[in-house]
Amino acid sequence: MTLARPAASHVFHRHLRNLPETAVGGDGPWLIDAAGRRYLDASGGAAVSALGHNDAHVIGAIKAQLDRLPFAHTGFFTSQPAEDLARRLSGLAPPGLDHVYLVSGGSEAVESALKLARQYFLEIGQPARRRIIARRQSYHGNTLGALAAGGNLWRRAPFEPLLMEVSHVSPCYAYRGMAPDEDEAAYVARLADELDQTIRDLGPESVAAFIAEPVVGATAGAVPAVAGYLKAMRQVCDRHGVLLILDEVMCGMGRTGPLFACAHDDVVPDLLTVAKALGAGYQPLGATLVHRRIHDAIEGGSGFFQHGHTYMGHPTACAAGGAVLDRLLDDGLLARVPGMGRTLRRILDHHFADHPQVGDIRGRGLFLGLELVADRKTKQPFDPALGIAAKVKKTALANGLICYPMSGTIDGQRGDHILLAPPFIMTDSDLEEIGQRLHTTL
Ligand code: PMP
Repeated sequence: MTLARPAASHVFHRHLRNLPETAVGGDGPWLIDAAGRRYLDASGGAAVSALGHNDAHVIGAIKAQLDRLPFAHTGFFTSQPAEDLARRLSGLAPPGLDHVYLVSGGSEAVESALKLARQYFLEIGQPARRRIIARRQSYHGNTLGALAAGGNLWRRAPFEPLLMEVSHVSPCYAYRGMAPDEDEAAYVARLADELDQTIRDLGPESVAAFIAEPVVGATAGAVPAVAGYLKAMRQVCDRHGVLLILDEVMCGMGRTGPLFACAHDDVVPDLLTVAKALGAGYQPLGATLVHRRIHDAIEGGSGFFQHGHTYMGHPTACAAGGAVLDRLLDDGLLARVPGMGRTLRRILDHHFADHPQVGDIRGRGLFLGLELVADRKTKQPFDPALGIAAKVKKTALANGLICYPMSGTIDGQRGDHILLAPPFIMTDSDLEEIGQRLHTTL
């Protein structure tokens, strides 16, 4: 017999005192628990399940690969699914990102990017370039290097001092960061000056890379950079010989409309990380897309990237990634995102534009966020002691809705927001249902 909620568990759960329901099935955008309750998945878990929960094409590709070859260690062999996926991703990526380092998830992808940046400078004879610059309102993963890069104070706090030398600058966060008398151009110029000054203060010869999410996900609730921001940051990096790492683990793979979110800003990074929707929940999969300049410096130097994971380039995971690309590109799911995003945005505006506890509605494509506030006029966040995000999550589940409320870091303070990242297969009536269930929840 399966219990809806286990009475006791040997799984070391995230929330030790609060055991979750047991999920047993998936049906398109719905998840089903052991008691038969159905949940509309409005966040794809955490922006993962872009194809819903029972995509026959992806499952078929995984099964076929399992029958052929489940695993071959990359220390000895490559595999056809890995070669195919890397070739396709590099063909779709911004120009120059010709090489693809395949791993098992987002933190591994970020960790690989940080180490690629460091090793690149070693190879070209600038070993002092070790320092990373990130933004205060960011999340880049939970491994110690990625955690050090991230600016999420409450996740970092238990593990201080962290391993890497990271400096943090301001996020691009129009709702709270832009002064009332400031336009976007002036705001961008101010943020670019801050990065420029930070690099000068540290000494450019000590800085390896600047890392940022084009649209901030987990810590902020789908906050897009304002127009021109990423371009300005790219220019500052170029001025000082600093690499630009864009972390699209959450916002990439079509979530915001184009396959890569940096296409909105027409910016080409040196390293680009993706995960989550790359395996779309069917397999653990992540990738770091690497500019040929970095690849060639390592290949022409020591010839060996000093990094690796046992399950990297896993054939079954890569077969899933290839099948996800088929669904996005050949079956037209990617093309649905902009229109669906506009529909969901209209629905959210309808329900929440005048809601007293919703301060801001923002995002791009099917990556949308609501910021929850105690007072709309003053933008005062809720008292963290109220645990608003946790309550919203619980109430939403009781209403048959999976959304992604987080108590994030609002430039140093706690603040609550809800992230929505629904599967690209939803119908308009599914999107309406999200609005209604969320309205009931709030
Ligand atoms: N980077 C970003 C932008 C993320 O949102 C996340 C996960 N929320 C990660 C990295 C880490 O990914 P993972 O949980 O797969 O390790």
